[in-house]
Amino acid sequence: SNQLSDRIKNMSTSATLAMAAKARELRNEGKDIIGLSLGEPDFNIPDFIKEAAKQAVDDNYSSYSPVDGYADLKQAISKKFKRDNNLDYSIKQIVVSTGAKQSLANVAMIMLNKGDEVILPAPFWVSYSDIVKLAEGVPVQVPTSIATDFKMTPEQLEEAITPKTKMLWFSSPCNPSGSVYSKEELEGLAAVLRKYPDIYVVSDEIYEHINFKGGHVSIAGIDGMYERTITVNGVSKAFAMTGWRIGYIGAAEWIAKACTKFQGQVTSGANAIGQRATITALEAPVSKIQFMIDEFHKRRDIVLGLLGEIDGFKVNVPEGAFYVFPDISDFFGKTLQGVTINNASDFSMYLLEKANVATVTGEAFGNPNCIRISYAASEEELREAIARIKSVL
Ligand code: PLP
Repeated sequence: SNQLSDRIKNMSTSATLAMAAKARELRNEGKDIIGLSLGEPDFNIPDFIKEAAKQAVDDNYSSYSPVDGYADLKQAISKKFKRDNNLDYSIKQIVVSTGAKQSLANVAMIMLNKGDEVILPAPFWVSYSDIVKLAEGVPVQVPTSIATDFKMTPEQLEEAITPKTKMLWFSSPCNPSGSVYSKEELEGLAAVLRKYPDIYVVSDEIYEHINFKGGHVSIAGIDGMYERTITVNGVSKAFAMTGWRIGYIGAAEWIAKACTKFQGQVTSGANAIGQRATITALEAPVSKIQFMIDEFHKRRDIVLGLLGEIDGFKVNVPEGAFYVFPDISDFFGKTLQGVTINNASDFSMYLLEKANVATVTGEAFGNPNCIRISYAASEEELREAIARIKSVL
């Protein structure tokens, strides 16, 4: 392994995928593990989208697509941006990629030079930090806590800015905290950014539809932000299409062009069948997926209620996505069933080994006081999992 590049040696393994692998291993040993570690809807892809994919196979969509995506898909994305976000992105400003994850990696590779700083309000989605590092950028974490609903304040943003700051990356609704930035909160951040015209923003809106208070706001729509915001989205979460690997961006044309150039050398673009199916997904009214959103909402309330009965769990009220991010630092320094809990990783491992419940340590998301629990699981599993957690604490 000495032959491996410094690049890969310095990269951390995705903590969520690592936990999923560990849970699988224990299951193979015969343990009854409830997995609450993955960020993946537990629904099937709606039938009307499956039908579109089958049709695409029969229609022989089997050749390379244009690198940046089929023109009619980009047209559908353009309409979606207008319909859902009131954003005007022409098809020249849109690039379709192999999941939002690749969209993010493209942006890092085309925007960052060695040493450029990227502000990441913490907790942030696990991959941001490693994607930035891969592009030789420097992640600058801005810690937030449950006291501000895990949101970065304008003052914190301003304090984190240096002459080396190139970008700000954030998700709203947020993975892992479920926090949703309101219009006023985004305006507060934009007011700071207007003073620094060279800072670009990645607004990751992949959970936009999974929002229980309604009224998703895109920062690109706020005064002075359109030209320098890269709006990232995809179909993994809202349409339960994680494995089909389709994500996209809307951005200034020069950014879209550069992403296409980069993608043209590394993947040649996203898979054809997934792209065709995505047209159908995006053209459908949001009412077609409302049942999933309603179900997540119901589960959120159940999970909050049950976790609220456990001493030592401090929980915010997530307004979107499908995670809760309890602060469990009250347990640090305690010994339970002979195991000393010193940090969130110990706590998460304790829950896996003693309660047979897989969660993810907050450390991976830049917050060492919390763990992430995904409620993309059945109500029965959630009830059983939380009862088990309660019993081992
Ligand atoms: N952004 C956030 C905040 C996510 O939580 C995820 C998936 O977990 C992604 C992006 C990646 O999504 P995709 O499946 O489109 O690559």
